[in-house]
Amino acid sequence: MPEGRARLLVVEDNEVNLELAAFLLEEAGFEVQAARDVDEARRALAGQAPDLVLMDMSLGGADGLELVAELRADPRLRGLPVLALTAHAMRGDRERFLAAGCDGYIPKPIDVKSFVSQVARHLGGRRGTDGERA
Ligand code: MN
Repeated sequence: MPEGRARLLVVEDNEVNLELAAFLLEEAGFEVQAARDVDEARRALAGQAPDLVLMDMSLGGADGLELVAELRADPRLRGLPVLALTAHAMRGDRERFLAAGCDGYIPKPIDVKSFVSQVARHLGGRRGTDGERA
């Protein structure tokens, strides 16, 4: 991974969740890029790849898993960590998301106390601030 602040792409169509996730992550020093639908996410991913993607699994009719499948089929983005961000808390959903290529799962509503550490865990201990390690 390159040096400097970790860059995170947050794909979320719910404005309240997006604002909260972005606020918490920026507060922790991460650089946050927001996408509110699948097309915005595709455009963001066509540029410089982020270090991690937080992906809402229900995006106004579109299925977040479709986008995950696209990433996993793209040699450039295949290894990009993706965390499912979802209100689906039913038994089996976690397994379904992991089987589809997600690296982890963060349930909604967002838990403000543990959200950042749940994300940081998937960045190999890399935190938002230069040189700092978890
Ligand atoms: Mn949604």
